[in-house]
Amino acid sequence: MKPFESLFDQLINPKNIVITTHPNPDADALGSSLGLMHFLVGLGHKVSVITPTDYPDFLEWMPGNEKVIAYCEEHHHIVTAKITKCDLIFCLDFSSTHRLKGMESLIREAAAEKVLIDHHLDPEDFVDYKLWDTKAAATAELIYDFIVMMGKKEAITADIANCLYAGIMTDTGSFKHPSTTAKVHTIVADLIELGANVNYVSREIYDTNSLSRLRFLGYALSEKLVVKPELQVAYLTVSDEDFKRFNLKSGDTEGIVNYALSIRGIVMATIIIEREKEVKLSFRSIGNYSVNTFAGEFFNGGGHKNASGGSSEDSLEKTVERFEALIQDYKDKYRD
Ligand code: 5GP
Ligand code: MN
Repeated sequence: MKPFESLFDQLINPKNIVITTHPNPDADALGSSLGLMHFLVGLGHKVSVITPTDYPDFLEWMPGNEKVIAYCEEHHHIVTAKITKCDLIFCLDFSSTHRLKGMESLIREAAAEKVLIDHHLDPEDFVDYKLWDTKAAATAELIYDFIVMMGKKEAITADIANCLYAGIMTDTGSFKHPSTTAKVHTIVADLIELGANVNYVSREIYDTNSLSRLRFLGYALSEKLVVKPELQVAYLTVSDEDFKRFNLKSGDTEGIVNYALSIRGIVMATIIIEREKEVKLSFRSIGNYSVNTFAGEFFNGGGHKNASGGSSEDSLEKTVERFEALIQDYKDKYRD
């Protein structure tokens, strides 16, 4: 590992740079990536943002969205060429390379120097430079820090400010999570002064529901929500059939798990989603209850103490059965 500041010398002369992030990128993953892309392009670098999978429509407003390459079979050659030929790879908002899915070996084996900027627990040791802080509310906060550390705050344009604001707004649950420090508000104040449009960003992300998503939300809360008051756990499942019936897109399930966690007395909530090749689980908890270890122990996942994810290769039914068995002693075992 090299001192993080020595990275700044690498950025003096124009370079070919790849920025990547986690699959199903959220607003922090994509906002950090595009915010950093605009900044580095402003310094004279050639930059490609490559995501391991596609992402929801409600992120497509982000400036630079049209330049993002989402990895898939069809893009394999172009992605391989970019990753093998670049000088520097930024890995944002994830801490273990298995999350890169089909791009994992390409990134691990690339000759380029690698930089990790992240706020997840337990980062793997695969990079040359690391800006890592689990206390940071969002990776976007660390991108802001990075720009300031380089002495380039005045280079933050309105586009960069909007991208970083989106990451901080969503990863703090709209400034509600315990990660919402005074520093977060100070950074956000700066971003607003630099051109972030609070109303525009929050409308694009939170207030642009399709009618089918709203109908599905009603159905999920009334028909699919399972509450186990004695275990203090609530969960819901979304099947492939639900996706078809309500004409859902992958981003349409985002945020629904928070309704389950909002029930008084519930300390852990989960949404279990049937996807094409796997079953995806999103865990949320409150206070001293940790979902990170639970996700890691049983569902090959991880994340943060109160917000984690994982996956299962079993069928939806089998996954739910296993989950039901595992939550029996959740509230006793996963309290710090
Ligand atoms: P979400 O439930 O919103 O997909 O993810 C919540 C948090 O857990 C995010 O910080 C995300 O990066 C992390 N996370 C989600 N899925 C996985 C996973 O499969 N593995 C790991 N290690 N982290 C995950
Ligand atoms: Mn994040």
